[in-house]
Amino acid sequence: MTIILRDKAALRAWRLAMAPSQRVGFVPTMGALHQGHMSLLAQAREAAEVTIASIFVNPLQFGPNEDLSRYPRPIEADIEKLEAAGVDALFLPSVEDMYPEGASTFVEETLVSGPLCGAMRPGHFRGVTTVVLKLFNLVQPHVAVFGQKDAQQCAVIERMVRDLNVPVTIVRGPIVREADGLALSSRNVYLSAEDRAAAPLLHKSLQAVAAAHAAGEHDAAALAAIGLAVLAQSERIKVQYWEVRDPESLGAITTVGARGALLAVAAHLGTTRLIDNLLLGSDA
Ligand code: AMP
Repeated sequence: MTIILRDKAALRAWRLAMAPSQRVGFVPTMGALHQGHMSLLAQAREAAEVTIASIFVNPLQFGPNEDLSRYPRPIEADIEKLEAAGVDALFLPSVEDMYPEGASTFVEETLVSGPLCGAMRPGHFRGVTTVVLKLFNLVQPHVAVFGQKDAQQCAVIERMVRDLNVPVTIVRGPIVREADGLALSSRNVYLSAEDRAAAPLLHKSLQAVAAAHAAGEHDAAALAAIGLAVLAQSERIKVQYWEVRDPESLGAITTVGARGALLAVAAHLGTTRLIDNLLLGSDA
């Protein structure tokens, strides 16, 4: 039975009733749950005795021209999935409860948030770090699981936790994909049939670059060009970025060296923005 906690007061009461020895595993989400989310919840269950998910479509992390109003919200189906997975609790707050009127305090990471999605979506990571720290303060988890699908989000949250001494262990869960390679995303439902057919090229471009790297190509610009050439196979794909970056700082690199690299791509298909990435191992 999944307990549904609909506001901060209910969450606090639930959390206070817990024995100090019970480890809490937490998975924050925006809902429209799919197998990617469920795999993170399975990892949280392995790491802790009590598992809690949150569903909150966080307005602070959406830009003015983004998809906040049309973001899918199939809450009944989500609750059924959490029940079936044996998740102990769901935090399902309202916007008013999370952001009292006049809230004027925000959390900002200023390095890792800069490039890639940070450059394309001003204010996005400030919204993410603010809501995630608020959720951590309420849930007080021992472990929180985030998806490698949002690699930059993972890196930003790991920094925030380190820099602000937040007492939580961050675990990264691997990307869950469709059979044809498309990374699962709540936004995939927006794709037209034609765009859905073209979408696996994102993953194919990452694989092509990983193969080129394995075959000896280490030049970052040459690797990115290989990725872009794969995406050029479909004119439906409008690339925002295709980048080879340091795996931790996400800073620019010219050569893939011993630290390996994060390959990261973002593209629009129609009005839908998709991201994907692949971590190249170190040469060591
Ligand atoms: P969202 O609901 O999109 O905010 O995602 C909630 C969490 O699920 C984030 O940590 C995401 O990185 C993670 N996630 C989303 N898609 C996937 C996927 N295909 N595989 C693994 N984790 C995912």
